[in-house]
Amino acid sequence: MECAGRLPRLRPLVAAAGADSLLVTTLPNVRYLTGFSGSAGLLLVTGDETLLVTDGRYRTQAAEQLDAAGLARSVDLVVGGVQVQRDAIAAVASRRGSRVGLEAENVTWGSQRRWAETLPAAELVATAGVVEGLRLVKDAGEVDRIAAAAAIADAALGEVLEMLGDGRTEVEVALALDTAMRRLGSADRAFETIVASGPNAAKPHARPTQRPIGAGDPVVIDFGATFDGYRSDMTRTFCVGGSPGPELTRVFAAVSEAQAAGVAAVGPGVAGGDIDKVCRDRIAQSGWAEAFEHGTGHGVGLDIHEAPAVAPGSTAILTPGVVVTVEPGIYLAGVGGVRIEDTVVVTDQGCRPLTAFTKEIAA
Ligand code: ZN
Ligand code: ZN
Repeated sequence: MECAGRLPRLRPLVAAAGADSLLVTTLPNVRYLTGFSGSAGLLLVTGDETLLVTDGRYRTQAAEQLDAAGLARSVDLVVGGVQVQRDAIAAVASRRGSRVGLEAENVTWGSQRRWAETLPAAELVATAGVVEGLRLVKDAGEVDRIAAAAAIADAALGEVLEMLGDGRTEVEVALALDTAMRRLGSADRAFETIVASGPNAAKPHARPTQRPIGAGDPVVIDFGATFDGYRSDMTRTFCVGGSPGPELTRVFAAVSEAQAAGVAAVGPGVAGGDIDKVCRDRIAQSGWAEAFEHGTGHGVGLDIHEAPAVAPGSTAILTPGVVVTVEPGIYLAGVGGVRIEDTVVVTDQGCRPLTAFTKEIAA
């Protein structure tokens, strides 16, 4: 990953947040800034120094990943136990100004108290969204990785689709989808795969159950792959081996139309809340306003849910390189539900979908 330009862009944001240095404890932020993908590590960014600390499990990996990111010489690496790491951070922080920014959304109360003990001379400053602000706009390499994850997910769904008419359970279909994604190159699932059929499709975040998928059932499949740390997110709703019935047919048409209108509305200068309103108004016009109870979408990247929100009242303005989902749904308790979701990247003119699988209900 090409990370070398990110630390220079971060430094003025740390100063703007009222801190002399930033202690980065959120692992996806550490990864974004340095390429280091271990499960334990802390990054201290001062005005002119950068220190990565981790434990012995990641001695080789951390050095290799800093090197691959072009940061072997500009980021100091200290490897050791907890006290060694804290002493190293205290030593650097203490000579670079007294205001140390913590990532307030990530630091627990207990952790904040330990940092106060480790850095007794420091003024701990609560910051929020500093690195996340940089992560909002994806560079070409990041978009390529999200697109690669989306392509893996598309191919996996193509392999698994024929199982839907076979009376398999939700769990069987979800497992087959997860296995296909791994075989096709996904490092992991982007999140827990949702396969929800019949009345379960009325629960937006249903867990797969042992329910056999019957002919004519709506089946909501919401899943994603990961590629080099970046995630994809797509939902399709199918109905195989029978007719969806008149009500679900109307629901499917309403969601399809709202989702297409939402995608068409995505572009530079548009607020996240505006996209949400487009989808919500269309669904309200169809008469199902109360049946769409979640936000329209969210940012996707190293995290499955990240900025910007595509939700009522979201003032986040989309710019080229921002990646968001558009995923309206209608859920009728006891009957079923429909959700359709694409991951799209904002371009100069509008947006480009990264997820491509057919949206035909009888696929
Ligand atoms: Zn999703
Ligand atoms: Zn989503």
